[in-house]
Amino acid sequence: KKIIVAIDGYSGCGKSTTAKAVAKVLQYTYLDSGAMYRAVTLYFLRNNTDLSGNEEVKKALKNIKITFHFNEAKGIQEIFMNGENVESEIRGMAVSTYVSQVSKLSIVRQAMVDIQRRMGNEKGIVMDGRDIGTVVFPDAELKIFMTADTTIRAERRQKELLEKGEKISLDIVKQNLESRDKIDSGRSVSPLKKAIDAVEIDTSYLDFKEQVSRIIELAKE
Ligand code: C5P
Repeated sequence: KKIIVAIDGYSGCGKSTTAKAVAKVLQYTYLDSGAMYRAVTLYFLRNNTDLSGNEEVKKALKNIKITFHFNEAKGIQEIFMNGENVESEIRGMAVSTYVSQVSKLSIVRQAMVDIQRRMGNEKGIVMDGRDIGTVVFPDAELKIFMTADTTIRAERRQKELLEKGEKISLDIVKQNLESRDKIDSGRSVSPLKKAIDAVEIDTSYLDFKEQVSRIIELAKE
């Protein structure tokens, strides 16, 4: 029987890498809800959308079409905004700096949650984010909540940025993770928190394979 696996947690805990690997083993579809908030943020940045104007935000949201396409060669799902592949650009520091300001807006969340629920209509998905187990799919059969030591998270993220050609100091990367966690946990709509029925996994010193196989085992229960 196919189920929904919800993976939530703090920024940079390795949620997406883990979720991707889990989806591959289970032959499920992986969906990155953070990529959606990032794509919306990119659109707002490019169009200088004023976040304090509800009408302006609403209008901008109507102009954004988000889709996912499977890249056969890379074996991953990539995000497209209005037909443009923005997979790489949304991971940069510019978007990371603003995304939590955008994702705390309730009209933005409503629009994203609608799309996410539609995609979850079919079982057999692994979705990662901040509110998947608490809000998007409160009935998900398996919920995971990931945590990790902040310095370890920052080091991993710094390496990823470097691979994209962005050389950022560890302090700046760490500050970004901490500031996003603070805004994401403190916002009034769908704050980041562990669902009561979620299994907590601290990935600081866990071997990646171990992490994945633990989740696979839970999914098979
Ligand atoms: O998962 P990722 O780090 O790419 O998410 C980027 C940002 O998007 C988070 O810091 C958070 O502000 C927002 N987000 C959210 N709810 C989700 C997924 C991401 O608010 N389900």
